[in-house]
Amino acid sequence: AKACGRNNFQFFTSEMQHKVTQTLDLENRLRHALDRNEFFLTYQPQVDIASGRIIGLEALLRWQPEGQPLVLPGQFIAIAEETGLIVPIGEWVLRQACHQLHHWHQSGLLAEEVSMSVNLSVRQLENKSLLSTLDSILKETGLKPSQLELEITESAVMKDPEVAVSVLRTINQLGIQVSLDDFGTGYSSLSYLKILPLDVLKIDRSFVNDIGGDPSHEAILQAIVTLSKNLNLRVVAEGVETEAQLTFLRKLHCHSIQGYFISKPKSAEQIEALLRTARHG
Ligand code: C2E
Ligand code: CA
Ligand code: CA
Ligand code: CA
Repeated sequence: AKACGRNNFQFFTSEMQHKVTQTLDLENRLRHALDRNEFFLTYQPQVDIASGRIIGLEALLRWQPEGQPLVLPGQFIAIAEETGLIVPIGEWVLRQACHQLHHWHQSGLLAEEVSMSVNLSVRQLENKSLLSTLDSILKETGLKPSQLELEITESAVMKDPEVAVSVLRTINQLGIQVSLDDFGTGYSSLSYLKILPLDVLKIDRSFVNDIGGDPSHEAILQAIVTLSKNLNLRVVAEGVETEAQLTFLRKLHCHSIQGYFISKPKSAEQIEALLRTARHG
């Protein structure tokens, strides 16, 4: 703003100015959030439809600035990506999630085959030190590569498909699982499904939402499940909120689900409580 001079602000309406001020304020607070320990993770179970067992957990980031209301990712991930802050924040998420899963394995609360899914921003994917970061986090936490799953959105892949394909290949060769998030919402062509080293497809919740409504969405759901089977991919339906949706997905032979019907994202303490009751009751 210095270079443009103060007078430029004359062109802003007060509403625009308010927005800019708010964004700058959020950005400033975000810069200090890591140092101030204001982040924490919640975890949402992924459940195998046939057995009802938890097969994985997705780590979902939360920001609790001191003396302020809780901030959800929708309000700060975009700014974290624009500023590059997502790289150190994402590294914190990876480390925290891996430590937590290893702890739950060690304490016997979760079976060894239960994996942890972590969302990866395209900025992290483009970052030169990603692979060494992943390597040291796995060594540090004692987690096996196969116990970690990285979720990358279809739109992130499409920003720079060449880079994405090459980095994801290396990640996959390390034994880390790769999951394509929000599938069906981006513009990716199906041909990328052949090139990308994928283990999992996550069907976007907009399709699940429309079960019982839009018949064309039901047809798309069926097609995605069939496609996944043919490509040897596990398929997770996101955003399952009702028994009717679960029943429909079971009929399609969808492998697994995630959503409020099973559990909302929960804090580590809440997850432990849930696992203890599941084990004993
Ligand atoms: P996502 O990866 O698609 O995560 C699923 C989102 O859907 C989560 O929102 C989750 O709370 C919500 N959800 C789960 N089940 C249901 C359901 O049954 N109904 C409805 N209506 N919603 C459900 P959340 O936690 O607010 O996260 C939003 C997005 O922020 C995530 O979407 C992901 O793209 C991003 N995100 C979250 N944590 C991280 C992170 O650590 N790193 C990065 N790069 N992105 C993150
Ligand atoms: Ca995700
Ligand atoms: Ca998703
Ligand atoms: Ca999403």
